[in-house]
Amino acid sequence: MSVKDVKTMNIAPKVWKNGEFIDWNEARIHIMSHVVNYGSSVFEGIRCYETSKGSAIFRLTEHMQRLVNSAKIYRMDSQFTRDQFCDAAVELVADSGLPSCYLRPLIVRGLDDENPSFGVNGMQSPIDSYVAAWQWGKYLGEEALETGIDVCVSSWTRITSNSMPAMAKAGANYMNSQLIKMEAILGGFSEGIALDDRGYVSEGSGENIFLVNSGKLITPPLGASILPGITRDSVVEIARELGIEVIETSIQRSALYLADEVFFTGTAAEITPIRSVDRITVGSGKRGEMTAALQDEFFKIIDATRPAPSGANWLTFIDSTEKKAIA
Ligand code: PMP
Repeated sequence: MSVKDVKTMNIAPKVWKNGEFIDWNEARIHIMSHVVNYGSSVFEGIRCYETSKGSAIFRLTEHMQRLVNSAKIYRMDSQFTRDQFCDAAVELVADSGLPSCYLRPLIVRGLDDENPSFGVNGMQSPIDSYVAAWQWGKYLGEEALETGIDVCVSSWTRITSNSMPAMAKAGANYMNSQLIKMEAILGGFSEGIALDDRGYVSEGSGENIFLVNSGKLITPPLGASILPGITRDSVVEIARELGIEVIETSIQRSALYLADEVFFTGTAAEITPIRSVDRITVGSGKRGEMTAALQDEFFKIIDATRPAPSGANWLTFIDSTEKKAIA
C-alpha cells in the first residue's frame, strides 16, 4: 500500500516508533513477536477534535498516564515517559494534516532478531512503543448519539481483577470484549453489556455505563472490574458541576430495565444513549433528558466553546507549524 493510499484512507502517513517517525507502511512486526503469540500489548484510544479554536487532543495527559500505568502493571518498561508520549502524539497529529483523528498509542513486546525468544515469559523480548493516527467517525453510528442504541446483556462474564486486571488497558482484555461484541452483533444488537463475576453490571465491550434513576446518576465503582474510563470521569465531573448527584455502586442486571435512562461513555462512543436492553425499552425509548444535558455540556467542551469543569485543562491545542502543543 503506497503513502498515496494512506492519505486517501485518512490515515496519518507516519507512525511514531520508539522516538522516531517511520512510514505507515514500515510499521509492521514479525509473526513470531511475543505480542502476536501471547497478547502482550497495552494501548490507548484518544480523540483529537477539530474544535472552534483549532485541533485539540482531549485529555491527552490522562490517556498517556493510563498508558504508562497499564505498562507498569505488565512490567513493560517502554523507556518513554508519559510526557514523551504526549509530545509524540502532538507531533504526529501536527504532521498528519488531519484536522481531527483518533490516536492509537501502543506498547508491545516484540521480537529480538539476534536473540529471539518464543516462550510465554516475555521479559526477554524487546519493548516497542508506537503512536498511530487515523480519522474515525462515530463508533456506534452517526445516528446513535441522538436516537440511542439497542443493547443486550452478554452471556460472557467480564474479566476479573485478579485474572486480567481491567484497570490496565491491555490488548488481551479485548479477547473478552470481542466475545461480548460479536455475540451482540450476531444477536441483532449494537453492543453488549457484561456482568462481572459476581453478576453485577460492569461495562460494555468498549464503554463504561451509566444509569439515571429519579434524577440521580448511577455507575459501577472503579473498584469493580471496569476500565477507569476518561469519558466516565469527564461525565462525573460535568454532572457534579450541574449539581447532579453521582452514586458509584453495584448495579443489578434488572436495574438496567427499570432505569429512567441508560447511556454508554467512551472515547469512541462519546456519550451514547441506550434505548433498550434485552429488547426491554429503557424509559421512553428515546434519549433521556439527563443524557441530553450531559451530552450538551460534553460536546461544548470538546468544541472548546465552554471550559472544562473547575477550569481544568482538558484540551491540548496543536500548533501545526511548530509541531508542538500551544502552551
Ligand atoms: N471500558 C472499556 C473496556 C473500553 O475499551 C473503553 C474505551 N477505552 C472504555 C471503558 C471507556 O474508556 P475511555 O472513556 O477512557 O475511552
